[in-house]
Amino acid sequence: MRKVTLIEGDGIGPEITEAICRIFEAAKVPIEWERENAGQTTLAERGELIPESLIESITRNQVALKGPITTPVGKGFKSINVQLRKTFDLYQNVRPCKTTQGVDSKFDNVDIVLFRENIEGLYSGIEFYDDRLEMSDSIARITKKGCERIVKAAFDYAQKYGRNKVTLVHKANILKGAGGLFLNAGKEIGENYPDIVFDDKIIDNMCMQLVIKPEQFGVVVTTNLFGDILSDLCAGLVGGLGVVAGANIGDDVAIFEAVHGSAPDIAGKGIANPTALLRSAVMMLYHIDLSEYAERIDAALNNTLKNKIDCTGDLGGNANTEQFTQKIIENL
Ligand code: NAD
Repeated sequence: MRKVTLIEGDGIGPEITEAICRIFEAAKVPIEWERENAGQTTLAERGELIPESLIESITRNQVALKGPITTPVGKGFKSINVQLRKTFDLYQNVRPCKTTQGVDSKFDNVDIVLFRENIEGLYSGIEFYDDRLEMSDSIARITKKGCERIVKAAFDYAQKYGRNKVTLVHKANILKGAGGLFLNAGKEIGENYPDIVFDDKIIDNMCMQLVIKPEQFGVVVTTNLFGDILSDLCAGLVGGLGVVAGANIGDDVAIFEAVHGSAPDIAGKGIANPTALLRSAVMMLYHIDLSEYAERIDAALNNTLKNKIDCTGDLGGNANTEQFTQKIIENL
């Protein structure tokens, strides 16, 4: 049985991870959860935000499913998500955004998979403050290797899933250095995939195109900051953060997580929507070659979403987390 690290997280994390465990059990998915945790709970119980046992578990299992984690506000607390990305060199942030029948959105046929470079760029952490001159520099450092591997990941995905175009988003017209390096890496890597069209768009035009005609895009690849912004924009095209999955993937380790936060305002009320985490869990099943189970759970979720009334309040329904989960199980 394949072992997978399960991080339930904070706020609504325990409620939505519990829903996933129930659905996986009902679908007889052949994995065994190794429960670890991080965040507020471990800080209170063990005095550490990311326990060493969690790092060891992920290193051993190479795959984790993670609930949302509250990042404490204040100096000295680094984002746990950023730390995990850096520790395991999770350079790909992958965000599929697809319209679903029953989930309100302004468009009908959006099916975008966004690849965001997850380590470099403006989030490289190279920042300087000069109090005397009252100025600050944040360096957008990127490397050829960093550009090549994220673009290659996007092309490999397109090839594996029969997508015929990859759109690279940049600002190389102004940011000649970092933008130029990224665009050139894209063109070079693209030559190795003759059956896939390489397209590039400048970020500002891309934003406009996305809100006018998102159906024209499939696989999209971009740098860290642009990806951070575009990923939420794309989520907004298909019903918002409550229904969108996410994955942070490296060459050895992959961590799958919902992209929304720990929702402290509704934590413990039993009304949280588990869809985003379930979709992330489905991505995880594809990643570990359990596609048969992934397809079955995905179909059950999509059938449940068709009847709004069976869904949680944020989707316009009347169900609580438990009832919504039960419906998905009945639809398996
Ligand atoms: P949030 O995503 O937690 O909540 C925003 C709004 O969306 C809230 O009204 C919330 O009730 C609602 N919401 C979110 N997920 C929902 C769900 N599954 N079902 C129903 N409603 C849902 O964003 P926030 O309030 O800005 O952040 C809260 C905490 O989460 C912060 O500490 C932040 O750092 C953290 N956070 C963590 C992650 C992560 O772990 N990946 C991501 C984003 C934010």
